[in-house]
Amino acid sequence: MSKSRPVLEIILPVYNEQEVLSPLINELDQVLEELRRTMEVGYLFVNDGSNDETPAKLEVLAHERDDVRVVNLLHNFGHSAALQAGLDHFDGDVCILMDADLQDSPTVIPEMVEKWKKGASTVVVERGARAEAHGWMFKLFYKVYHGMAQRMPPIDFGTFCLMDATTVQRLRKLTEQSRYFP
Ligand code: UDP
Ligand code: MG
Repeated sequence: MSKSRPVLEIILPVYNEQEVLSPLINELDQVLEELRRTMEVGYLFVNDGSNDETPAKLEVLAHERDDVRVVNLLHNFGHSAALQAGLDHFDGDVCILMDADLQDSPTVIPEMVEKWKKGASTVVVERGARAEAHGWMFKLFYKVYHGMAQRMPPIDFGTFCLMDATTVQRLRKLTEQSRYFP
C-alpha cells in the first residue's frame, strides 16, 4: 500500500464465517468504493482458529487481492483476543473494528471516517436493536457493567468502532490478558 494517502484498515475477527465472507466482502467493497478515491483501504482478517472453510477462503482472497491481509491464530482464542491480534498487526493511519457477521451495517463507515477527518480520534457506533435481540441476560450484564465502569459507554455498543493510530498505540500498551473489549 502506498503511504502517500491515508491508510484505512478494516479489522475483522473471524471464527467459522465461511458463509458470510463473500457477502461481507461484496458489501464492504461497495460501501468503500467512494472512500478509495482519497484513501488506501485494506482488510485485515484475523482468523481465530476457524475449523471450517474460512482459512482456505481467506487464503484465496489474500492471494487474489493486495488489499487483503490475514493473520491466522493457532487456535480459537475468542473475540477479544482476535481483536487484539488485529490491533497488534494494524499498520495504518486509522482502523475500524468490525464483526464479520454483518450484524453491524458497514454503510455507516463513510460517516465514521468523516468524523475522523474532522478530528475525532475514536468513533463508536451504537447498535440500536442489539440489546432487545440479546434479552435480559445482556441487559443485566450492561446494568452491572455500568455500575462498575468509571466512564460509561452507551448501553448497547459492541466493538464496531473507529480508532486512529495514536489510540491504537495506547491500547497496545495495556497489558490485561483477559479483556472485555467495548
Ligand atoms: N469471533 C471470533 N472468535 C470467537 C467468536 C467469534 O473471532 O471465538 C468473531 C466472529 O466471527 C464475529 C465476531 O467475532 O466476526 C463476533 O462474534 P459473534 O457474532 O459470535 O458475537 P456476538 O454478535 O454474539 O457478540
Ligand atoms: Mg454477531
